[in-house]
Amino acid sequence: MDDQNIIEKSLKIVKKYPLCDHCLGSLFARLGKGLGNEKRGAALRRTIIMEMDRRVREGIEDESSLVTVLGNLSSEETKEIAIAMNLNIHELKRCYVCGNNWNELVKTWSKKILDYLDGMEFESFVVGCTNCGEMEERHRDLIAEFKLPYAENIKNSFKREIGKILKEELRKEPDFVDPDITIIIDLKNNELKLQIKPIYVYGIYKKLSRRCSQSIWKYECSVEGYLQEALNVFQAKEVVLHAAGREDVDVRTLGSGRPFIAKVVKPKRRYVDVTKIKYSNDDVYFEFIRYSNKDEVPRLKGEDSLKEKTYFAVVQCTETVTEDELKALEDFFQNTIVSQQTPTRVLHRRKDMVRTKKVYWVKAAKVDNTTFISLIKGEGGLYIKELISGDNGRTEPSFSSFLSKECKCVSLDVVWIEKPTLENT
Ligand SMILES: [Zn+2]
Repeated sequence: MDDQNIIEKSLKIVKKYPLCDHCLGSLFARLGKGLGNEKRGAALRRTIIMEMDRRVREGIEDESSLVTVLGNLSSEETKEIAIAMNLNIHELKRCYVCGNNWNELVKTWSKKILDYLDGMEFESFVVGCTNCGEMEERHRDLIAEFKLPYAENIKNSFKREIGKILKEELRKEPDFVDPDITIIIDLKNNELKLQIKPIYVYGIYKKLSRRCSQSIWKYECSVEGYLQEALNVFQAKEVVLHAAGREDVDVRTLGSGRPFIAKVVKPKRRYVDVTKIKYSNDDVYFEFIRYSNKDEVPRLKGEDSLKEKTYFAVVQCTETVTEDELKALEDFFQNTIVSQQTPTRVLHRRKDMVRTKKVYWVKAAKVDNTTFISLIKGEGGLYIKELISGDNGRTEPSFSSFLSKECKCVSLDVVWIEKPTLENT
């Protein structure tokens, strides 16, 4: 006889192991797609009973093996059939794989997940199952023992059935490619994990304070800290600032503001009109322009060094500076390449190397004998404080070296930053 015959094969299995409809069906899951394991198993169970009945009638098998088989077909319906057939089955054995707990497990975990997702905004989801514990091991052993090429891993069945319930209850579609929420079940460790897709928001900020750092650091006030407050409407676990470049703690960013992308980590809410979020105080001002995505983050950061920036500086000199000298300074720094060795003050976090950056133009106006104000437009990444001071010769040429007197930047503002070339900006 054809040893892949499914009646023959399933009969062989249930003579040895008690199985519920689901678990029996799952051993042939790839046959009759669309049936579902429960119905597939029920069809096999009923056919097995009829086949055994025939064999007993024709003297091929005796009644005791029919009783054994019936006792191993763990379904309420089997009881009724046994009574109708006048057979006395002492006990209906519990399913070898799931202990007749399958439906209860699916129900409990679905409920658990629904409770977990309560109050969370999302459009799409996907369910995954990393481990079905001992149930999975027993199921796998059966597949190996009886060589069942059409069986499916019980994890697939579990996540699919839960997915079906969630789809119905939530009225949301599963998305296997890029879901808002990924639900991961680990039955072995009784754990439920949620992976929530982060949200990205593009905007600009102005930093109005000279005592505020960009990222959350040792300063009480930071742009990133305020950003978390500004975006608290998302009820996120965390908000991370990805900015196009940075300014020092004592430097303000005014004018056009600095472009950034906020990464909103594990948000509970997703549908917020970000353009309506207003947030400003004495230290910062935010403008939220549109939603962004994770691909734009490296582009925003990568492009920054190419983007032009304009600064306003107040410069203090050790000696008197004249109008003529300042005019010469303006002429000299017209489209001038400056060579900058990593500034002493950032050596602890930056590699020591020489960079060449372009100064497009400089404007300077005298305020008093030793002070002047200056507008400087330069390539992204140009260190302005060092362009002015010279950083003991590490930046060359500098205002100090050109004027032959020590100059120092006493206050600095970024007043204009070229916009990144991202989509929709
Ligand atoms: Zn079962």
